[in-house]
Amino acid sequence: NTTQPILHVRDLHVAYGRVEALYGISLKVGAGEIATVIGPNGAGKSTMMNAIAGVLPAYARTAGKVELQGEDIATVPVEDRLARGLCLVPETRALFATMPVEDNLLLGSYSRYRAGDRHYADQLDMVYELFPRLKERRKQQAGTLSGGERQMVALGRALMAKPRLLMLDEPSLGLAPRIVQEILHIVARLKQTGVATLLVEQNARAALQVADYAYVLETGNVALEGPARELAGDPRVIETYLGLS
Ligand code: ATP
Repeated sequence: NTTQPILHVRDLHVAYGRVEALYGISLKVGAGEIATVIGPNGAGKSTMMNAIAGVLPAYARTAGKVELQGEDIATVPVEDRLARGLCLVPETRALFATMPVEDNLLLGSYSRYRAGDRHYADQLDMVYELFPRLKERRKQQAGTLSGGERQMVALGRALMAKPRLLMLDEPSLGLAPRIVQEILHIVARLKQTGVATLLVEQNARAALQVADYAYVLETGNVALEGPARELAGDPRVIETYLGLS
């Protein structure tokens, strides 16, 4: 495959002081693809996401390359990464609790559109089409939504920025299985828009169902990688990450 990936991470190292968290990991995500990173607690998944997004704490040291559409952005500030189309939906979701749903969504478009630009209206329509429930609740305070609805707002807000690379950190956290399926179904639909998605998940079963390609991260190394369907059938993955159910 000769087409350039949207995201290409090469030999990424991260250390917090003397504690190394990533020992040179490499991964790729192409346009319209979903890549997932699964692995146990403490493996370095959040560190990897934060390093790619440029939001590591100042005392963290990094080495290696983070290429977005062929350009190394490893030392580019977070706001410039956003302007280049990289958008992280953090585990915390970080909504403005006392603001209505719609204002939370509109905040996502500020990196993309200047004041007075009407194009955000089309993007808002697209988000409401994906999440009809948010349209119904557009005037409701975000802090009063259910967990699943809040995850929808966090995802919708990221889409308002028209990302090229969408990074989702544990979108299933704290959600009921049915809601997890609903959210991942929407993530799968986004492939048609050409966005590249990097999905970090504890819920390996759900992640492998929706992803095209998967990486298993263990103690700061990529222990295993391959097409998601193949990994879902790999005995080591089944034993360690999928249980026997
Ligand atoms: P979890 O699924 O539990 O969130 P994770 O795979 O996301 O785990 P990280 O949070 O990236 O793993 O942690 C990787 C390693 O780096 C751990 O040993 C952790 O203690 C350490 N670490 C993470 N953040 C910091 C930090 N800000 N300062 C120092 N060490 C850190």
